[in-house]
Amino acid sequence: MKKVAIIAQTKEGQLSETSIQLLSFLSSFSPESILLLAVGEVKFSAVPSSKSVEVITLSEGLWADSSSIEPLAEILEGFTVFGIKSIQVDNLLSLLAASSSQEMISGVQQLTYSAGKFTISKSIFSGKASLTVTSESASYFSLNRNFDFSGNAAYGDQSISSVSTLTNASGSKASILALKPITGAIPLPDAALVVGAGRGLKDPGNWTIVEDLAKALGAATACSKPVSDLNWRPHHEHVGQTGVKISPNLYIACGISGAIQHLAGVNGSRIVVVINNDPEAPFFKHADYGIVGDVNDILPRLTKKLQSH
Ligand SMILES: Cc1cc2nc3c(=O)[nH]c(=O)nc-3n(C[C@H](O)[C@H](O)[C@H](O)COP(=O)(O)OP(=O)(O)OC[C@H]3O[C@@H](n4cnc5c(N)ncnc54)[C@H](O)[C@@H]3O)c2cc1C
Repeated sequence: MKKVAIIAQTKEGQLSETSIQLLSFLSSFSPESILLLAVGEVKFSAVPSSKSVEVITLSEGLWADSSSIEPLAEILEGFTVFGIKSIQVDNLLSLLAASSSQEMISGVQQLTYSAGKFTISKSIFSGKASLTVTSESASYFSLNRNFDFSGNAAYGDQSISSVSTLTNASGSKASILALKPITGAIPLPDAALVVGAGRGLKDPGNWTIVEDLAKALGAATACSKPVSDLNWRPHHEHVGQTGVKISPNLYIACGISGAIQHLAGVNGSRIVVVINNDPEAPFFKHADYGIVGDVNDILPRLTKKLQSH
């Protein structure tokens, strides 16, 4: 197969957990060293070892400035490039794919490689169905945050050894697009953990119990449509058919009935926990775990438990 490159996510120089999983997962596909593209310096202390990794350090300005795309697309010619879904990574992958006239596949849930072909499972129709396709030509893949890393038998057997820094592309110029990062909060589409709440909260003043739980978990907050229509919460938090689509590892739905329009935005979640005082609430049918109870009682208890750990 072609050589493999990864757009890695880092926090304070450390590779994110999903980037490490991705490196390990893809090392079984790649006969050669893996090329890792990261913004800023990368510390490799957390990465296990036996396959070599080459690193291209990208400029911090990359996300806000399109100038690096063409030189980067040239470097990536002959590579298959993978990233974990986020607004920035998806933008970068689609710009690279467009710039090099290569195919990009997004929303990838599972992926295997055999006999020169990728077999890809991706969710469609707001997560109500999944589609399996094969591709020999796609060069850019955006994997969902809850991507199934166990899909490849070799996962976990491979590891990374030497690391060498290849190039520093930080001097590159050109203009792609202007991205306006949301600061001070975890962007909902990128969040791995989400606490959502609905009309069952009764009053916007009661949102502190939702925010406290989200803070204790390091989660983003979301809401149902009526809640944002009532201006209890900002519109960018509204999830569902007419709002943001989320695919976190964990979605905790508090005082939300589970209308089909709401489910359309959240059924890409890996684990759904529903808290509702009505045992007949439709959401329970779509939950992995359910708590029948009053949000005013359950949420503070959950938060306290998390804070004590
Ligand atoms: C065209 C169209 C598009 C739509 N798009 C969306 C969309 O994108 N997203 C969306 O969310 N909705 C959407 N809706 C609205 C949707 O149909 C529902 O009306 C909405 O999701 C209900 O919101 P809710 O669950 O917060 O409120 P409710 O239906 O009022 O449910 C509140 C829930 O809270 C529970 N509850 C009450 N008190 C407590 C308590 N103390 N403790 C615990 N639980 C409690 C109740 O048992 C109930 O289940 C759309 C509707 C239409 C027609």
